[in-house]
Amino acid sequence: MMGMNERKESPFPPQDHDHGACVAGALGRAKQRCQEKGIKWTALREQVFQHVTASHRPISAYDLIESLAKEGKRLAPVSVYRILDVLREAGVVHRLESRNAFFACMTGHFGERQMVAFVCRECECVSEMEAPEAFRAIGEVSAEAGFNTLAIMVEVNGICAECCEKRVSC
Ligand SMILES: [Zn+2]
Ligand SMILES: [Zn+2]
Ligand SMILES: [Zn+2]
Repeated sequence: MMGMNERKESPFPPQDHDHGACVAGALGRAKQRCQEKGIKWTALREQVFQHVTASHRPISAYDLIESLAKEGKRLAPVSVYRILDVLREAGVVHRLESRNAFFACMTGHFGERQMVAFVCRECECVSEMEAPEAFRAIGEVSAEAGFNTLAIMVEVNGICAECCEKRVSC
């Protein structure tokens, strides 16, 4: 058992980690997930997915279009949004509501377990952690209030452990 004061391992990967391994893992999981769900994995979807997985920072649709254009792939916003919808539907890409941006799922829960998105304002990376009690509490409050909840998104802004260590104020 973990002691009360013992720090849990940060869900944020070390800033000097081998991101190629993250991309390979995410890509493998995404392809498998789409196959399981009967969603076609096309070259274009893979290309868009790779641009989303380029870093742990959420990317806006606009930046995604720019980034694809730099590779010579010019896509209309409507096409990019359609592909993002498919990838989100599969649970391999999530939308960060507070920033209107998208990030790749690096944990492989595929949206089947609700996760809290933690966003570091220093390195701008996003990471997901489970907090079932939080969702349960929100669900209870909604039910008591007669509120018909359709979706619960929880996003936490702050500073990741590694960025904290670099600051004096944390
Ligand atoms: Zn990585
Ligand atoms: Zn996820
Ligand atoms: Zn950080």
